[in-house]
Amino acid sequence: MPVKRRILYIEDDPASQRLIQRVLEQSDYAVYLADEGLAGINLARETEPDLILMDMNLPGMNGREITTRLRSLSAFAGIPIIALTASTGSGHREQALAAGCNGYLTKPIDVATFRQEVASFLQGRREELEAEDRLHHLEHHARTIVARLEDKIRELKAANERLREIDRLKSDFIGLVSHELRTPLTLVEGYANLLADTVGNAPDELGVHSLRPLVDGLNVGVERISRLIADIINASRIASGDLELGIRSLRLTELVTFLMDDLAGVLDQRNLRLEVSGFDEVPPIEGDPGYLYTALTNIVGNAIKYTPDGGAIALSAAVVGDAVNISVADTGIGIPPREQGRIFDHFYVLEPIENHTTSKSAFKGGGMGLGLTIARGIIEAHQGRIWVSSRGSDGSRESGTTFHILLPLHQSVTGDTATQ
Ligand code: ADP
Repeated sequence: MPVKRRILYIEDDPASQRLIQRVLEQSDYAVYLADEGLAGINLARETEPDLILMDMNLPGMNGREITTRLRSLSAFAGIPIIALTASTGSGHREQALAAGCNGYLTKPIDVATFRQEVASFLQGRREELEAEDRLHHLEHHARTIVARLEDKIRELKAANERLREIDRLKSDFIGLVSHELRTPLTLVEGYANLLADTVGNAPDELGVHSLRPLVDGLNVGVERISRLIADIINASRIASGDLELGIRSLRLTELVTFLMDDLAGVLDQRNLRLEVSGFDEVPPIEGDPGYLYTALTNIVGNAIKYTPDGGAIALSAAVVGDAVNISVADTGIGIPPREQGRIFDHFYVLEPIENHTTSKSAFKGGGMGLGLTIARGIIEAHQGRIWVSSRGSDGSRESGTTFHILLPLHQSVTGDTATQ
């Protein structure tokens, strides 16, 4: 069976699409349709047509611009591109030819002659322009493109500005809501603690000790909400550059001791090994202990969440020049290289949203996508750097992930010394 010749028709009017498709298919052409320029260029790449019919008045890129773009691609430099248009104004034909069209057909088509016209262009027919005319219309074409480009850049800038404004409004709203929530939560927290003390201290004969599990449950819930709100407040402070650090001299080994105490239960429950090395040897650094503890907890917490039971996490420190390099290496699921640039963004999570949990420890139990944003904000506020390395999972075995944190020993040190 002879191979059908392929014709791509770029046209946004469905009635014209249908008519041309019917006429050409009756002549045994294979017809492909696209209703705007970018889709048309993609379809041309996919189908490698023998001829392209091009409407001129299209939304987005117009027919002349699409033709010029196609001509710049070597695959389409030589194929016939024929303008098929309802616009018959003065100079339109010349402009289409100058832009790279081989011919200019008008709509409505004459069905009887249309097939012959298409066949003749397929056989090499080409409408010519006088050199002077061609130059004149090319200049006009170039000027029109530059003017449209200018308009588009202006539109894009305005749209970006608007997006930034919306993003700022969103951050302000999130910050405001979390501050508003914190006030009543402090009350709830106070009463829940009081209740726990009262129940705990009450004499046995009052019979309120059976309430203890309920009160404990209440406190766990309140503690989780507080943690979530603290995360949101921290993230919004970081976004607005309002993180106020209380800098003092501190030993990282003390933070790590706290961390190990905090995580002992979770590590045990998940059968994970935490190997700590080098912290006793590094000198004290200048930093805010509370915030640095938060950053470290987020990173090690992630290592726990994304490492299957039975795995290991290595937490180590070493002096590099006038900074301390902390690395947190896990034997977990890894992070694909294409995602590594985005994991530090606000609310960015890789795991499906249905795995979302407020648990600090469940395997693959994703949180709100703020942990790394907060960690990076805190480390950068200390003039440090954080980055990740992981080969990403190949599906058959875990590749592991290592987070690297570089913190200057002294806060007077500029960011320049903190190099990878
Ligand atoms: P979350 O609080 O949801 O865990 P984070 O900002 O801490 O959000 O992390 C963002 C995403 O980065 C997570 O959803 C997870 O997919 C990925 N991620 C972070 N740390 C690790 C790790 N150690 N191993 C694998 N994936 C990780």
